[in-house]
Amino acid sequence: MTAKTYRGRFAPSPTGPLHFGSLVTALASYLEAKTRNGQWLVRIEDLDPLRESTTAVGQILQSLQAHGLIADEEVRFQSDRRQAYFQAIATLQLAGRAYYCGCSRKLLKNHGGRHPGHCRQRVRHSTDATPLAMRFALENADARWHDEFLGPQQQWVKAEIDDPVILRKEGFFAYQLAVVVDDIDQGITDVVRGSDLLDMTAQQRQVFQALKAEPPRWLHIPVILNSEGQKLSKQNRAPALDDQIPGTNLWQALQVLGQCPPQELRQVPPEKILGWACGHWRRALIPRHSVTV
Ligand code: GLU
Repeated sequence: MTAKTYRGRFAPSPTGPLHFGSLVTALASYLEAKTRNGQWLVRIEDLDPLRESTTAVGQILQSLQAHGLIADEEVRFQSDRRQAYFQAIATLQLAGRAYYCGCSRKLLKNHGGRHPGHCRQRVRHSTDATPLAMRFALENADARWHDEFLGPQQQWVKAEIDDPVILRKEGFFAYQLAVVVDDIDQGITDVVRGSDLLDMTAQQRQVFQALKAEPPRWLHIPVILNSEGQKLSKQNRAPALDDQIPGTNLWQALQVLGQCPPQELRQVPPEKILGWACGHWRRALIPRHSVTV
């Protein structure tokens, strides 16, 4: 049996321009794909118009291009994929793995995560006035899987208590559904992403299984923190990458990924530093804990 061709992806949510932390993730996923003769895809996870900025998509794509990170296929937008998500929800409903829920976070918190109205059993009536969310029905599990970098992982998955929203009451599809549907549809074999998403993995594995698809391999890289110990993110006002100095940015990203690029590569064009990185990428050098910049 021949192994499937490696297919990786970088999947930013366009809540703002690319910052250094997202460059590190993009670069690690790119290098993993390229050093395994794989394909590297870019997917814009634009599911939430309330949190997204209208200019962010253009800025992200421009930044990736400026840094020489060119996708092997046309960029996918999750905003074009509503039909596929509806179908996945229909499949989950038929399998008894999706249910309507009107509970607020506060209400759930006050009941230890249990749904006081027994949402899993409820049937939606056309007379229901309040908008309802839809949740995925998890199974209780002692989930174990292997992270390609962090090694063996274990997580308890608690049915009902952990059930993630897959369709929000505002009518937007949620990340936990869309990410799996698109990873399946795009034939993604390997996911490289920040360790802040590690806790999502056990739930996502169940969504893969419920959709009768083989889960990909996962590799979680350390989170990049600012000097106050917060993850670099738009919410924490991480500055946008300066697209005028792609070589320096890539050099620094390789540095925090533990790859020790030579000083003389600091000022070279992105293609050159990426060429060096493809020839020297060593996963084992990635630091095991979060990195402060
Ligand atoms: N869109 C997610 C984010 O920007 C990443 C999804 C993933 O890599 O699984 O945080």
